[in-house]
Amino acid sequence: MDDNLLFTKILGISPPWLVKQVVVDEKSQRVDIYVDHEPGIRAMCPVCEKFYGVYDHAPERIFRHLDTCQMGTYVHVRLPRVNCPDHGVKQIMSEFGENGSGMTFAYEGCVIRVARECSIEATARICGLGWDQSWNTLDRAVKRGLGRKEHRVPARIGVDEKSIAKGHKYESLVYDIDAGTVEYVCDDRGQKSLEKYYRQFSSDELAKVQAVAMDMWDPYIAATKAYIPGAEQKIVFDRFHIMRHVLDAVDKVRKAEHKALTEAGQQTLKGARYLWLWSQENIPVWRQPEFEALKAKDLKVCRAWAIKENLRHMWSYWHAGYMRKYFAKWHHWATHSRLEPIKKAAKTLKRHLDNIVTYAKHRITNALAEGINAKIEKIKRMACGFRNRAHYRTAIYFHCGGLDLFPRPSAQQTLKFKTR
Ligand SMILES: [Zn+2]
Repeated sequence: MDDNLLFTKILGISPPWLVKQVVVDEKSQRVDIYVDHEPGIRAMCPVCEKFYGVYDHAPERIFRHLDTCQMGTYVHVRLPRVNCPDHGVKQIMSEFGENGSGMTFAYEGCVIRVARECSIEATARICGLGWDQSWNTLDRAVKRGLGRKEHRVPARIGVDEKSIAKGHKYESLVYDIDAGTVEYVCDDRGQKSLEKYYRQFSSDELAKVQAVAMDMWDPYIAATKAYIPGAEQKIVFDRFHIMRHVLDAVDKVRKAEHKALTEAGQQTLKGARYLWLWSQENIPVWRQPEFEALKAKDLKVCRAWAIKENLRHMWSYWHAGYMRKYFAKWHHWATHSRLEPIKKAAKTLKRHLDNIVTYAKHRITNALAEGINAKIEKIKRMACGFRNRAHYRTAIYFHCGGLDLFPRPSAQQTLKFKTR
């Protein structure tokens, strides 16, 4: 088999396409494949898909292809143009790679697969690309994926905020709870940002939303009430966010008590911070004796801890009425605890109770969103920080969007023989 035929088979091209020449340069470890077509063919207008004689050829394009063994491999081609009576002079659709990508479909797919596993720096290194080229590949993949994405509002939505830099830059992420994907990334955590997501859908589509999990955050509540019909019954304040409010209160009690004890010369609470924050079952076995000894003392933080632990049971009820009843008892206990941070947290929860007990019906949390958040933290570390918001957003959609990212040539033949 000669080189041309070998590479015709390797590239998977079929007549009228042919490999005209293969140049192997051992010194620079490079293979250049020159692709041409048979004479006397007809080419397809990319707009109307009608076939015409070749008008001329576009300037040569070079596509990076998968390596031939250890050698970098490049496909050279001049794509025919047609002069369509309806659409003017048009270049045929490229069967080799996307316009402007500089990579064959196969190579670009390979870069995407590497980027899914590696940092952007590692992807650039492994694939022999520049940093910007790698980002462009991710960008194009995301645009492609979003373009192919079905226009559909998820039945069960999660909304969560995410800080993107030290300081106070936030993004809001909208999740499809059932698919476990990020559906949308909004600019900040304001009402208007979330409304921008909702506005993509008609009110009929939005009426199909069954439930929305979120933190007790007024802008999210307002946006959801403004757009989702029957939102009052559908908003579920996420139990993990709620517990975080109570945990913060426990921690405040501990801090104040530790300070007071230290001033009195006692180090009773030193190094014990997480004992009070962990859920009881998560306390490591080797620290349990220490924890039991602390609990035997008359400590404020121990009371705060007990109140926190008790609240967790509320989510085991299957009826809103029982949740309310349980909460009423808990609230009485918390507000009579003489622990200011706990009282404050209890009041906040009471104000939001109507949409805490909606959990009984919908049973959704942002736990999955938290899982994605962990993934985003990992993405951030892997990317060694993002130079701008657009990159951050691209990376989230790329890794968490559940998108169809891969480039594909059109299934249609763009050239055919005149006689056939
Ligand atoms: Zn046309």
